Amino acid sequence: MTQSQHTGYVLIVDDDVMIRMLAAESLRGVGFEVAEAADGWSGLDHIASRRPDLLLLDVMMPGITGYDVCRALRQQSEGAGIPVIMLTGLDDTASIESAYDSGATDFITKPINSALLTYRVRYALRASRMGEEVERHRRSLANAQRIARMGSWTWQPASALFESSTEYRRVTGEHPMGPDYQWRDILMHVHPDDAKHVAHVINAAVESGNAQPVAYRILCRDGSQRTVYERMEVFRDGSGAISRIEGTTQDITERVAAEERIRQLADYDELTALANRRLFSEVMLHGLNQCARKRVSAAVLDINIDRFKRINETLGHGVGDQALKEVARRITECVRAGDVAGRNEVAPRQSSPARMGSDNFAMFLTELKRAEDAAVVSRRLIEAIALPMLCGGHELTLTARIGIAVYPDNGDTVDALLGNAESAMRGAKELGVGAYSYFTSAMNAESLAKLEIENELRGAIERDELTLFYQARVDAMTGRLIGAEALVRWQHPTRGLVPPNAFIPVAEESGLIAPLTAWVVREACRQLQQWQRAELAVVPLSINLSAHSFREDGLSGFIAASLREFDVAPSLLEAEITESMLMQDVDRAVTRLHQLRSIGIELAMDDFGTGYSSLAYLKRFPLNVLKIDRAFVKDVLTDTSDAAIASAIITLGRTMKLAVVAEGMERVEQANYLLSLGCRYMQGFLFAKPVPANVFVEFLRDGLAMPRGLHVRAVDTETAIRSSEDAPMVSVFNLAQSAPSRQLPVHMPADATISQSTPACASP
Ligand code: C2E
Ligand code: MG
Ligand code: MG
Repeated sequence: MTQSQHTGYVLIVDDDVMIRMLAAESLRGVGFEVAEAADGWSGLDHIASRRPDLLLLDVMMPGITGYDVCRALRQQSEGAGIPVIMLTGLDDTASIESAYDSGATDFITKPINSALLTYRVRYALRASRMGEEVERHRRSLANAQRIARMGSWTWQPASALFESSTEYRRVTGEHPMGPDYQWRDILMHVHPDDAKHVAHVINAAVESGNAQPVAYRILCRDGSQRTVYERMEVFRDGSGAISRIEGTTQDITERVAAEERIRQLADYDELTALANRRLFSEVMLHGLNQCARKRVSAAVLDINIDRFKRINETLGHGVGDQALKEVARRITECVRAGDVAGRNEVAPRQSSPARMGSDNFAMFLTELKRAEDAAVVSRRLIEAIALPMLCGGHELTLTARIGIAVYPDNGDTVDALLGNAESAMRGAKELGVGAYSYFTSAMNAESLAKLEIENELRGAIERDELTLFYQARVDAMTGRLIGAEALVRWQHPTRGLVPPNAFIPVAEESGLIAPLTAWVVREACRQLQQWQRAELAVVPLSINLSAHSFREDGLSGFIAASLREFDVAPSLLEAEITESMLMQDVDRAVTRLHQLRSIGIELAMDDFGTGYSSLAYLKRFPLNVLKIDRAFVKDVLTDTSDAAIASAIITLGRTMKLAVVAEGMERVEQANYLLSLGCRYMQGFLFAKPVPANVFVEFLRDGLAMPRGLHVRAVDTETAIRSSEDAPMVSVFNLAQSAPSRQLPVHMPADATISQSTPACASP
């Protein structure tokens, strides 16, 4: 053996100089570095200044004995691992036992056999180094386990011995594991929902050696819960019997939580915690497959909250969010399986609610008994949502509309059903608040047509395809033209002249109404300017405002700017607003109306009588004109209640000092009857249909021919006819306040009936 193979530093502690010399010589001879000490104390001092790799220690020494030195050494952290070989003259069992008891590694008897000594030293050193190596590995393994939060264990079926690492005990919740602890005992701490599966995995491993990885939840000693992932391997002996099972158990709580969070974000709506569109589509796909197999029906509900945007706009998003959460809660509550079945009305096997967009929810009902059951659920949802809710100190009442598409009648794919439920929901919109509607293919065709209109309308304004028609408004008592209503038309390249009812609703839904209204305002102003420049005596023009435009913040500013741009007096413009628009939110409407009045334009309530204005509200609206809806005029001669309403409106107008205009006058008898009731201002095909500007300009220039048989009151008309060019024209609005303002040429047709007396009541 070469010197280098035996590097090691040995300390010999013995009071016998001869023995020291002999031993040192033999050890140096095989390459060890050797130091000597003559007694126990100086030996300990020596160790403190330089740690030997091995100690040769005499038992009997003056001062302290070898046993005491060994014991002292084992107390120190430094000396605990040093291998100690005791040199003893006594080879009786008692002293050997004392040697081991004091912590010696080995012993050798005197006189020393130098060959034997070197072997013993070498062997002890090798064993000690291996021990150190093992300890180092054990420590780094424990470290790795701690970092990975992974414990390891071994179980031997024959001896029922279960050994586990420190980390295993930590990972599994620090439950006490006494010497009798068995592998199966872990089941006591497994989450009850997972215990059955874990027991099955353990049994499979023990009985057939089939080791499957398993993840389960564990209840820790401190009451918390953890998720662990366990893998195992089965070892067999020569006979094929299972000798041991080794396993690792890893704490995957954080990973599971992170995965859950990712899943939440990907599949669920953050605000309401309902499924999002992605997950909903998946659930539907799965559900539809099942329904196809079982040959049963299903339904998709598209649930839309009415005018939700207004809550956000007026009360802020915080309140809006609270309201949406509450809606989500009510939707979920409404269809809880037990609840639905409990009432024994409908029992869809499964109902999955989802949030599809801001104020848009959806519900999938599978295994419906009858398609009608979807309506029962819809009605219940509408009722639940309509209950007042308190959000951020505000009491809100929301209404919902629901569209229903039924599988398989209305489609057999997720997309088709969702699309059809949505168009059904749009259909429900026409039925009013809190309505639900089934999808029909007719409805689908309609929505397709609307979509087409929307796409084409987008470019219509830029392509200059819109035009205004003007319908005369007359004073039937004098036969004078006193104003005109500007009515938009779409000069479509292939469809021809498209009436507003065919595209205004689409424009409203798509947001195209804003540029459309802007165009109408400017076009009316431009036209007035053009007529004024042509030195025509213009009449006021009234424009129609849609609900959406009326709510728009910048509307009055825009109108004022347009009037200035075209140098038009504000009194030449009137805005028509429908009754229903004003009744939606009375306070806001009052503010809006005042804004519009403040720029100097006139205000008319269009289609009056169709809504449900109360007198109290009407008094708050700063209006100039009431327009009796065509519906009452139509049957005024035959329907006594229509006649009564018309009469009441006329009286109301007079009381409130508002001008009353009767719309949709088609027959001279209607006009005479309304004249007899005291309504002199009229509009309708009887006098003139809406006409393009180049035709209307003739009315301005030449006046309008009055229909045959109209009972015109002499006093006004005669003056009017006589004064011809200079006859004072009084606008409807100013008449109401009896303040003449404008000059207008009036031309009465030769065949107009001029009555000297009060017109006779036209008989129905
Ligand atoms: P509206 O404001 O009530 O307008 C009166 C409608 O009745 C006009 O239909 C007119 O042509 C029609 N009409 C007038 N006299 C008679 C009659 O004697 N008999 C019959 N059967 N009908 C008569 P139009 O032009 O199709 O407009 C329909 C609706 O479209 C309007 O109702 C108005 O609400 C809306 N509208 C028209 N132009 C615009 C616009 O520029 N902007 C907005 N937002 N809405 C508009
Ligand atoms: Mg109108
Ligand atoms: Mg009208």
